Amino acid sequence: KLRADALTRSFGRGAKALPALGPLDLSVAPGEFTCVVGPSGCGKSTLLRIAAGLLRPSSGELSIRTAASRPAAMIFQDYGIYDWKTVLANVRFGLDIQRVPRKEADARARDWLARMGLSDFAGAYPAALSGGMRQRVAIARALAVEPEILLMDEPFAALDAQLRTILQDELLDLTQTTRTTTLFITHSLEEAIVLGDRVLVMSARPGRIIAERRPPFGRPRTGTVRSAPEFTTLK
Ligand code: ATP
Ligand code: MG
Repeated sequence: KLRADALTRSFGRGAKALPALGPLDLSVAPGEFTCVVGPSGCGKSTLLRIAAGLLRPSSGELSIRTAASRPAAMIFQDYGIYDWKTVLANVRFGLDIQRVPRKEADARARDWLARMGLSDFAGAYPAALSGGMRQRVAIARALAVEPEILLMDEPFAALDAQLRTILQDELLDLTQTTRTTTLFITHSLEEAIVLGDRVLVMSARPGRIIAERRPPFGRPRTGTVRSAPEFTTLK
């Protein structure tokens, strides 16, 4: 479960402090897939960085509760992968922290690389990859730890339409079968509607939540994003 209460964040000091986010209240129920959309600069990444514990709020509180066995994981808008680690080592990173035995960690990491179409690049360094490939490494790294809470900051933005659709399908499948609590940032309302149980809309900076909608057709429970009627009607 993820919950924010009267969360705000400003940047700069004293009289020069400029509010970037909030006040914002938010609650994501266990297993729920919540999408957040809003204009550029409204504070979406700031919200996610606070949720991931990478940035402190200026006021208010954010709490994340997970069962001890499953961690939270974040995918960054700018990938956040380690350039000095190989692709395989990047994906294995979270598993190493969880002390998953090396052989198993290797197998799981390779499995995720295969799903992302990156098997041939296991031994490569990120500098040798394209933007979309780097983003897929970041996605594989986050999903490999089977997180209970998944924080995703425009994870599919750098991908081509076909791959985006495939990964949206995979993500829905995975988050539904494992009941992953997901907070998903996107600037695409279409993507938010296809993926989200719930869509939150933020105002311009400093971002507050100004609307909350449950897509009327519900999210595709069976079948895939591609075959779901709402996906074809959106196109
Ligand atoms: P985008 O859709 O373009 O990714 P965003 O909604 O993710 O935008 P944020 O990155 O959260 O926006 O930034 C919100 C505001 O806070 C922006 O105006 C940005 O300039 C400012 N900001 C973010 N991080 C910092 C920082 N470290 N120092 C100063 N200002 C910052
Ligand atoms: Mg952002």
